[in-house]
Amino acid sequence: MLSADSSDFAPVPPLGNGAPTIDLNLDRTLKQTFGHDAFRPGQREIIERSLQGGDILAIVPTGGGKSLCYQLPAIVRSGVTIVVSPLIALMQDQVQSLQANGIHATFLNSTLDSQESFKRIQALLRGEIRLLYVAPERLLSDGFLELLDRVRDEVGIGGFAIDEAHCVSAWGHDFRPEYRQLRLIRQRYPQVPVTALTATATDRVRLDIVDQLALRSPFVHIASFRRPNLYYEVRPKEKRATYREILTRIRQGGSGIIYCMSRRQVEELTAKLTADNVTALPYHAGLPGSVRADNQTRFIRDDVQIMVATVAFGMGIDKPDVRFVIHYDLPRNIESYYQESGRAGRDGEDSDCVLYYSAGDVGKVEWLIQQKTSEDEQRIARQQLRQISDYAESTECRNTIQLRYFGEHFEGNCGKCDNCCNPKPIEDWTIEAMKFLSCVARTKERFGTNHLISVLRGSKSQNILKWGHDQLSTYGIGKDRTADDWKMLVRSLLHQGLISETTDGFPILKLNALSWEVMKQQRSVEIAIAPKPKLDEIDDRTGSTMTGQALFQELRALRKKLATARSVPPYVIFADSTLRLMAQKKTTTLDDLGRIAGVGAFKLDEYGEAFVAAIRAYSEGNAADLSSTHLTTLELLKQGWDLERIARDRGLQVTTIYGHVAKLIETGQIVEVDRYIDAETRSRVDAAIAQVGMDRLTPIFEALNGTVSYGEIRLVCAMRSVSGSAAADLTGQSS
Ligand code: ADP
Ligand code: ZN
Repeated sequence: MLSADSSDFAPVPPLGNGAPTIDLNLDRTLKQTFGHDAFRPGQREIIERSLQGGDILAIVPTGGGKSLCYQLPAIVRSGVTIVVSPLIALMQDQVQSLQANGIHATFLNSTLDSQESFKRIQALLRGEIRLLYVAPERLLSDGFLELLDRVRDEVGIGGFAIDEAHCVSAWGHDFRPEYRQLRLIRQRYPQVPVTALTATATDRVRLDIVDQLALRSPFVHIASFRRPNLYYEVRPKEKRATYREILTRIRQGGSGIIYCMSRRQVEELTAKLTADNVTALPYHAGLPGSVRADNQTRFIRDDVQIMVATVAFGMGIDKPDVRFVIHYDLPRNIESYYQESGRAGRDGEDSDCVLYYSAGDVGKVEWLIQQKTSEDEQRIARQQLRQISDYAESTECRNTIQLRYFGEHFEGNCGKCDNCCNPKPIEDWTIEAMKFLSCVARTKERFGTNHLISVLRGSKSQNILKWGHDQLSTYGIGKDRTADDWKMLVRSLLHQGLISETTDGFPILKLNALSWEVMKQQRSVEIAIAPKPKLDEIDDRTGSTMTGQALFQELRALRKKLATARSVPPYVIFADSTLRLMAQKKTTTLDDLGRIAGVGAFKLDEYGEAFVAAIRAYSEGNAADLSSTHLTTLELLKQGWDLERIARDRGLQVTTIYGHVAKLIETGQIVEVDRYIDAETRSRVDAAIAQVGMDRLTPIFEALNGTVSYGEIRLVCAMRSVSGSAAADLTGQSS
């Protein structure tokens, strides 16, 4: 299998052999032009090799930062870099993002009229373009190749970048025959280095890319497929509770995608959300193409918060700031789940992936599988269904399971999934299992889950009476458990192989050898207890997050205004993470703003003033809320007094002074807290807040057994409320 280390794959081309040594400060270019502070793993090496003239194959998951690997070389070396990209929408996005950084990029495709094309071609031939994006079919047309010959002769071709390179492979999921002919460019321009990029990881596809594109001893970089900024969670699906949970998540803010299985489900959920004042749009294959395109644009531009969609939505969306992806229904298999949920957090910011799971959904998919005519297809679909439901039922680290699917070993304990962060309690349910299994035996192994549960719970329904099942010794012996409890047990028994299920027609439960061991008390049964739906969190949580991020929200609003004026998506102006840093650091000078990650020279010039002005206005507006007693404390703090001394001198309680400091933090007058609370205490408070929330102080105080004062707790809460839970970053410690 593949390892993330590429050394076993291909001989690395000799470095600097004949190629001019380029002495460049790549870090400086990275910050100046792209605004980033550091390279991500692999990026620097790829860029260096590429600048030395070598071919590259970069296999990096979505959001890993592939584009930079060819964009940075493109702006530092001579000649034009030609980027082959399969989708017009993606091309446009990329070009807009580059232009927003002041980089001369353009595209040629069928959406342009001849006059516009002509203009762009002239600019190209004058050497004014660094990156040119084209679709493969255009690149290979006669006229275009002739144009490229002229470009080579007059301004030079610096490199080719083949994006979504897995499209060359019939083994991949998006085979495009026109990609096959890209080999032509290697023949026609043998000296020009080629960089191929993809997010698809299988061995077969990888070998196919090297072969089909005739790459020469490429440097192969395979990044880990782990997405450390995504939090993975599986939750029980129960109609009403699930809807309320989703609503809660939506109200916490951020763009989200909700995937549903059917068009009807998409329409229903969209209508329901709209009625609850959520801005949401539908997307599915039943809508006319123009409506789909329009809805997609409105989502990307943040005109609406939520996209409710079938799997038709995704290929070709490049929105980096999707904060959550919810699967309202079961995905088809683990790979699709990885790709669909992976549309969250491409910008590297923390984002959530929630899968709602119910046994009923498994039944529905099984029924759909039975409708397939080919036996082969049925077999594959069944295996995939088994894998995805195993994933949902498992108590193992979600990342470990997903990565195993891609042949990557991951130890687990990721700290970013429900199973690692909130392991489900394991309970001994041997007695319940015995009750259930003997009910299966007494009903002669001829019924499905729901009927059996009705018997156990003593239902008086027609169906039970008809079969005389109210006469059985197991009738009514399971009243102490809810129907959901019993369903959870059945899922677990199936998952552990302690009972079997027929797969033709309606699923009927059958006893197997292990079932008998349980009934004979030769084997005990332990099950993981699923979490209950969160019923009453809606109103409490939303309030505090909304107010806490007031400045961040204002900066977002400013960004939206600037974006609309330029008709670009907001993320093209600044990423969420950049706005959050601005809100935390309250940068009120251009110099300080320029040091923030994500602010390059061009953007500083273009937008700096507007953002600095907004932050100033905000800070001043808030300072007006402070009374003179706060300002006196602030003055004394500035003179270096500690809190005890201020309290003593002013004849006030220390707690009161802590309250002042908290208020000063909330209004942005104080941004550093190292002076007032040590890192260890602070992280203990953070941990307690993670457990009990921060709506009230007393539960936090109690969770810490009274070892931390109310004053200090208030400080931590104030810090968190100004900057969300990321507040700890301010002082450089991670919480
Ligand atoms: P993909 O691999 O999916 O094509 P992109 O190239 O679109 O990913 O990059 C994803 C996000 O990561 C973008 O928002 C980009 O600005 C950001 N990014 C890329 N490289 C870096 C870096 N070195 N530091 C910070 N952010 C980066
Ligand atoms: Zn985990």
